[in-house]
Amino acid sequence: MHALAGTKLPFENQHKDDFKTNLARWIGQVFYDILPGHGYEVREEQIFIAFHIADAMCKKKVHFAEAGTGTGKTFAYLLTAIAYARLLGRPVIIACASTALQEQLAGPNGDINTLSRLLGLDVDARMAKDPRQYVCDVRVNRLTNMINKQPGSSLNEVLAWAGQTGLGERSEIPHVSDRVWASVAWNEFSFCEECSSRGFCRLVKAREHYQLARDLIVCDHGIFFDDLWTRNERIADGRRPILPACAAVIFDEGHKVILPAAMRAGRQIDQDDISSMLSFLEHLQGARTSLVSAAFAARMAASGFFDCLRQATLQDERTDRLPVRIDDRLLEAAATLRRALGILDLELQNEQELHLQAMSAARLQLYEVRIERAITAIGRLCRNRANDVVVWVERMDGSFWVVPRDLGGMLKKHLYKQNIPVVFSSATLSSGGDFSYIARTLGLEDPSGVSVGSSFEFDRQAMIYLPRRFPPDSQKAGLSLAVRRLVALLRLAGGRALVLTNSPAEVREIRAGLARLQLPFNLLWEDSAERGHLLRSFREDVSSVLVGAGFWEGIDVPGEAATLLVIWKLPFPPNDPLIEARRQEAREQGLDPVTAVDYPEMSLKLKQGCGRLIRKSDDRGAIAVLDPVLGTPWQQLVMEALPTGAKVVHRPEDLTVLKAQTDHAN
Ligand code: SF4
Repeated sequence: MHALAGTKLPFENQHKDDFKTNLARWIGQVFYDILPGHGYEVREEQIFIAFHIADAMCKKKVHFAEAGTGTGKTFAYLLTAIAYARLLGRPVIIACASTALQEQLAGPNGDINTLSRLLGLDVDARMAKDPRQYVCDVRVNRLTNMINKQPGSSLNEVLAWAGQTGLGERSEIPHVSDRVWASVAWNEFSFCEECSSRGFCRLVKAREHYQLARDLIVCDHGIFFDDLWTRNERIADGRRPILPACAAVIFDEGHKVILPAAMRAGRQIDQDDISSMLSFLEHLQGARTSLVSAAFAARMAASGFFDCLRQATLQDERTDRLPVRIDDRLLEAAATLRRALGILDLELQNEQELHLQAMSAARLQLYEVRIERAITAIGRLCRNRANDVVVWVERMDGSFWVVPRDLGGMLKKHLYKQNIPVVFSSATLSSGGDFSYIARTLGLEDPSGVSVGSSFEFDRQAMIYLPRRFPPDSQKAGLSLAVRRLVALLRLAGGRALVLTNSPAEVREIRAGLARLQLPFNLLWEDSAERGHLLRSFREDVSSVLVGAGFWEGIDVPGEAATLLVIWKLPFPPNDPLIEARRQEAREQGLDPVTAVDYPEMSLKLKQGCGRLIRKSDDRGAIAVLDPVLGTPWQQLVMEALPTGAKVVHRPEDLTVLKAQTDHAN
């Protein structure tokens, strides 16, 4: 460690060896004196977690910082992040789960600006947004030349905006649909390195801007992994890495990193995309016969492969990633496609070398990249009978994904070996303080970890309803009892409920159960409208009831609208290929996949779901779990995931917290 000239630490520090002690003293001063002096309410749990993060970062550890809802963990990690960046003269990277969370942290009214103002620090924090959040001038120019100008169309509005915007960011035109935005935004086939508009490009300028951040770079998980997996290759090719060298990494919502890590390391093949490219090549004016024949053969092979893939795809409504049965037929079709694409790739290279003008250089390059990516993906599938990869078909668009199986090993090699502090921060990392599941998932053998509960007073603010009786075997009787219980709870709470399910099938189940009843509140069904609209209605129409599978995390509804939280069924994980890979890994380590994977997965998701109920210190409410818990093998895990200290009752009418709230509402 070395203090750099011109980089001012937020506290006196004469010698580098004193940094840890002085940092701890400063953190104490901030939480005990400065913030309360500005009227800011600090919590013991927050101070505790802040000291532990400081200690772990000074010792360059990989550390889990679990802090329950309302703890204020962002301030807890920001203090050390700012000081540590200044000590080393390199920024600390904070990777968030979404662009919205980046804004919450580093936007004009975000936590960083607030802290900077309260402490009188001039914190230099810059956002590294996903490149898809920026307009691409090349695409704008192409579209402007191609389309008929229709006054009033949203595409025209975007094109007009693109001509005037300074930043070129998606957030400047939030009302434009994702589909229209995608037609003008950067995408993975924008070749920035060779672009003649580089000098004026807003994306390039934004990248240059965040590269120079002194204290903090706030990116999203996707960009972080894009950088991590391509960093060495970029440096070897003489290209600049996506993110600058950093002093440390902090993952906000650290429980969510595996999916973006997998997707950014993987390859995606889309049938429509491949077919339209091959069809274009087949009908290319003036193209050589050998190129046309190669394109035709590849199109036939692609069609054969996707036919086999459809037959091998297993349907499961509970996951967006559909598992694929890898059999000889699929592998044979994949090998045929790979060979055909290899021949086509050679043809395209010849085309380039012979300078035949059958297609533009940009399109040729674009197609070559697409074909090479498809070859890589199919090659990974064919190798070792797909034992080294995880594959799935994306439910939404039918695209085929191939991602490396050993993400833990990749994290070890690319991240942990850098010998910089890495902090995973979240409200849900452990099962009852045990981090072993998330540690195994992230390829960690001996991480440090600290868990603190929520700052809310659950004994006063929340109650839990766990039914004792369930019909022994009959599914039908079980469903009808669950519906009766749900109706009783909703009537007791006067609506004002969030009902969490695990699949669209469960939503349909509840809908059918409530269909004939006249209930005095609105029912908002997940499949009936766009998510943002539903959430707005749920917040504004306080007595409404929102039912869906997509609200276990990432939603914040403080106040009375979410007075009752119903867990329709416990969230045991579905047949998701990424989870199945973990089950397989557990088997290989001699562990029982049910207790080593399914139980902790369920417990973490349940904990996230329960975190939707109490969002502020004056919120009150009840959680009802309508699935068997008492006397089951998972009872203890469920109890650990439920709010600590909340009173447990076994009859809806004993949920006094609901009655008190109903009286208050009346
Ligand atoms: S540099 Fe990249 S994003 Fe910018 S205009 Fe060129 S291709 Fe588009």
